Amino acid sequence: MGKEEMNTELRTSYDKLFVNNSQWVDKIVHEDPNFFVNLAKGQTPEVLWIGCSDSRVPANEVTGTKPGDIFVHRNIANMCVHSDMNMLSVLDYAVNVLKVKHVIVAGHYGCGGVAAALTGKQYGLIDNWLRHIKDVYRLHKGEIDGIGDQVAKDKRMVELNAIEQAANLSKTTIIQNAWKQRDDLAIHAIVIDLESGYLKDLGVTTTSTSKLDDVFDLTTSV
Ligand SMILES: [Zn+2]
Repeated sequence: MGKEEMNTELRTSYDKLFVNNSQWVDKIVHEDPNFFVNLAKGQTPEVLWIGCSDSRVPANEVTGTKPGDIFVHRNIANMCVHSDMNMLSVLDYAVNVLKVKHVIVAGHYGCGGVAAALTGKQYGLIDNWLRHIKDVYRLHKGEIDGIGDQVAKDKRMVELNAIEQAANLSKTTIIQNAWKQRDDLAIHAIVIDLESGYLKDLGVTTTSTSKLDDVFDLTTSV
């Protein structure tokens, strides 16, 4: 069993990745001969990026950063679901071991997951994941229903979803306990505008539990 298992078309598209990789390595080593030697020594990223799996929103490229700069978790529609062990494990490691300074939830306009959640159609297994986005719609139904244009409606839902997912992070004991211990940890919600490439901060940066409802603040009686 090996690459010969693939037909020519499959093999070509797979091999292209290795050709590109080789060119990428050459380019970086040309600029900094020790780049990979230093990279292999360890990571000290200051940012945890929780973004969408969409192929058009790669964390490093859109922020102009390099390998080693950003710890990344991506899933469909950049969700922060409090029972998702994968997301929680990434968050815990990033916050408590890597000691990142920023946790960024990055939505993007044109998000297929958000658009799908605003319909009544079945898409398969993903319907269960999209339910979490429908819950965001339920929280903001008045505002969303008041927007007539479908594109504008989808865009606002993308923004509100990123804001709600960032709020979900501040409801975890991981974040709340870290805030008790240090004052250099901020949570942000942003969107990426695919049509322009620009990032947009959504103005909800949080550095404490002060704005949380009492039932979500788990540090008061500890
Ligand atoms: Zn998306």
